[in-house]
Amino acid sequence: MLRRTKILATLGPATDKPGVLEGLFEAGLDVVRLNFSHGSAEDHIARAEAVRALSRKTGRRVGILADLQGPKIRIARFKDTKVNLIEGQDFALDINFDPLAGDNTQVGITYEPLALEVRPGSRLLLDDGRIVLDVVDVVDMRVNCTVAVGGDLSNNKGINLLGGGLSAAALTDKDKEDIITVAKIKCDYVAVSFPRCAEDLNEARRLLEAQGCYAGIVSKVERAEAIVEPVMDEIILASDAVMVARGDLGVEIGDANLPAVQKKLIQRTRELNRVAITATQMMESMIDNPIPTRAEVFDVANAVYDGTDVIMLSAETASGKHPIKAVEAMHRICVEAEKQPIVRESDHRINIQFDRDDEAIAMSAMYMANHTKIKGIVALTESGSTPLWMSRISSAIPIFAFSGVEETLGKATLLRGVFPIYFKLEETQDHAEVNRSIVKELRKWNIAKDGDKFIITKGDLTGVKGGTNALKVIVVGQGLTP
Ligand code: PEP
Repeated sequence: MLRRTKILATLGPATDKPGVLEGLFEAGLDVVRLNFSHGSAEDHIARAEAVRALSRKTGRRVGILADLQGPKIRIARFKDTKVNLIEGQDFALDINFDPLAGDNTQVGITYEPLALEVRPGSRLLLDDGRIVLDVVDVVDMRVNCTVAVGGDLSNNKGINLLGGGLSAAALTDKDKEDIITVAKIKCDYVAVSFPRCAEDLNEARRLLEAQGCYAGIVSKVERAEAIVEPVMDEIILASDAVMVARGDLGVEIGDANLPAVQKKLIQRTRELNRVAITATQMMESMIDNPIPTRAEVFDVANAVYDGTDVIMLSAETASGKHPIKAVEAMHRICVEAEKQPIVRESDHRINIQFDRDDEAIAMSAMYMANHTKIKGIVALTESGSTPLWMSRISSAIPIFAFSGVEETLGKATLLRGVFPIYFKLEETQDHAEVNRSIVKELRKWNIAKDGDKFIITKGDLTGVKGGTNALKVIVVGQGLTP
């Protein structure tokens, strides 16, 4: 059975080891993440080249997503690398303090406006919430706090403000430089960290396009203000894909609020015809262990039931001990979860009017696929819109996105239930000839055998965006099909 939910795995030192990338391909990896918070431009370029070379060798198209670091706000460094903070003690964050000389009473920070954006009573969460500081007062740009939850605190740990509201712009100078590397690599997707509003995403798109890069934009939803209406919808609409970035988001809104927000974000993202990614700690224990915990199995399956397109691995593959086993585990959990009726049926958009014929045809194809015996759908596509619309409908029927446009195929790697296949047609208006070529391609990939019924959606003219105006049903080996 083809798995519909896509697996996105972060590359890093663990996947650089000989044979690991090959193993990830075999285990069913769909998209890789290049994490620009770590590593040099050369590292990312080399990893992208390795992925492309394997894609060519295996014929299996694996997409590339570049994740920009964004304005992660951090403390500076300690004299002795780390300190131990005790509940109830005083501790200060000070922009004017020597960034290398922190001790267990104070430390420098890298974010100038912090002192202007907190007030007495604000709660700061450090190191993903492991350390909690309550702000007592602010004197001369020095934020004086009391330790509410203590423990070890080491160099450069992140700072979040509970409830959100830190004003740092989403794109830093480093991100703007990294965008040049991203364009060079020709990534399929670029993730913007900590967007506050749609304009942060529009700006990233403009900067990429200025470099000749038309990658899809992924918004990482990780700020409290990004999940408040109308900002949430505006962010989704300015994105091609939306990541539920549960790490930082959980710190800002509190972990107990995450499950409901995940469900809402995935649902709204799909309703607005965008792609949903669920990220962070999905297989966390597999950084060390060869099998997931039962809770992790449930988390992955529940994300599938929520309708996510993509599930993401971070340190599990980038630096964990069992990167291949983590992908294998995700694969088997998804395959079982996808057998449940809840993810195979849909009444989504059943009562609405469509503005466009191509969208109506995409919906008709899904309606037919879900209500008759169909082996698969072939969507001939230039822009990728038809398979995107189709994949917003829950179904068990695979959608094969046939396109001669590399960018379209790259973007399709993230879509749930969509399998990109390179297909370049000579200019022709002869539909029977097109159908024959499609069946030949399906047979080449062992997707079709005699008697299988497929739906084909296409336009009269090849090479035209938005031109889908036909839905054809064919039976392999019968009539005019080979
Ligand atoms: C997250 O916070 O969940 C996340 C995906 O961001 P990062 O890139 O910091 O892991």
